[in-house]
Order: sequence, then structure tokens, then C-alpha cells
Amino acid sequence: MIDLHCHLDLYQNPVEIIEECERRGIYVLSVTNTPSAWPKTNELASKNRRIKTALGLHPQLAGERKGELKLFNQLIGETRYIGEVGLDGSKENKSFWNDQKEVFEHILSKCEESGGKILSIHSRNAAREVLETLKDYPHAGQFILHWFSGSLKELKDAIDLGCWFSVNPIMFNSKKGVRLIESMPKDRLLLETDGPFTNTNGSPLMPWNSIDVIWKLSNIWSDTKENVQMQVMANFLKVINH
Ligand code: MN
Repeated sequence: MIDLHCHLDLYQNPVEIIEECERRGIYVLSVTNTPSAWPKTNELASKNRRIKTALGLHPQLAGERKGELKLFNQLIGETRYIGEVGLDGSKENKSFWNDQKEVFEHILSKCEESGGKILSIHSRNAAREVLETLKDYPHAGQFILHWFSGSLKELKDAIDLGCWFSVNPIMFNSKKGVRLIESMPKDRLLLETDGPFTNTNGSPLMPWNSIDVIWKLSNIWSDTKENVQMQVMANFLKVINH
């Protein structure tokens, strides 16, 4: 199983969770919110070959942490994976919108310079702006839109741009989320949890809870869980071997 967007460093007990991932054989993209969080987070999972630590600068932190772009430049050669990055158009993050743009564009240009990366991208309330920005950096790598919540038109544009979509169990809780998931091509769909920021019954989602997406997709696609799982794993291999 896979969880391609999870904040392992922000759980209360990351070491135990990493051990459990090892036991269950789960592939995890462990995203970070700041470049300064990367070295320790990477070290945490350094013995588990199925856990990859992405270097990120979260758009909600772009205002206060843009000084860490220097550190970002120093670390980018250490990993193939970038995230969490992107833009957030929510009201509370609009006051540093220009910083967000500057940080995101800087990161995308560094990804291009380095020959392309695999990116986990945040686009809440900014799907249009994220897509417009990605168009300017066609060689930045493989774009995985995490928890996509744009319009159906924006979804279509993202598909045309070649984006992947990592889907978490919480997205099925809204009609709009289900409508988007129904419209995502089967061969572009990946799994995530966004734990520990998502929870069910008061406890944070764990990387292995991404399996819930398989059960829900098997209803939407009217296919067996085994076939859905095979499709998602084939997609995963395609992204990482690109
Ligand atoms: Mn996240």
C-alpha cells in the first residue's frame, strides 16, 4: 500500500509509526513543511527503504520562512522528492500571497535546473493559480496534486497538464469531493492520508488508513478491491519510475 502525502514528523510518535509502516510494507512519501525540518525527518526514516522524505516549504509558511530558501537550495540535491509546496488562496494566507508566489516559483525553477523532481503540491483555494504557475515550469518534474479541491474545469486542465492526484479518505465526505474523484482518470490516481492533519473518530489517520480509499474507489469504479489496488500500484510505479 502507499501513502504519498503524510507528515510523519508531526505525529506524536513517528518512530513507532515508521516501525509499523515497515511491518506492513507501506510506501510513504513523508512530506515536510520547512527545509529546516528535512534533515531530521529524513534521518528518522533513513533505514526504511520504502519511506522517502520530501523537501518542502508549505505555502502557509512562505511568509515567515522564505529565508529558508537558501537551505532549500543546499538540500535539493539530496532528494528526488519535493513537498509540501504550492499556493494557498485562503483568506488568512492572502496577506503574503506575493511571498507564496515567489517561494513556489523559486522551488519550481530549482526543480527544472536539477532535471526534474516528484512534487506533492498544495492548491487549496488556488487551483487556477497553481496550474498557471506549473505551466511556466514544464520540466520541473512529475506533479502530484495533493487533496485537489478545485472546480471540474480546473480538474480537466490539471489532467491535460499531465498532473497526478493523491486522494485521501476525507475527500469522500463531501459531494464535491466525490464528484472530483469520479472525474479523475483511473490511471492518474494515487493515495494519501495527509496525516496527522486528518482524522476519523478523533484519532489521526495513519499511513495504512489510505486503504480506505481503495474500498471507496471500488464502489465508484464498480470494480473489485484487488483490481483497484493493482491499478493504483501500477500508477505509483509509473510516477516513481518516470
Ligand atoms: Mn499536508
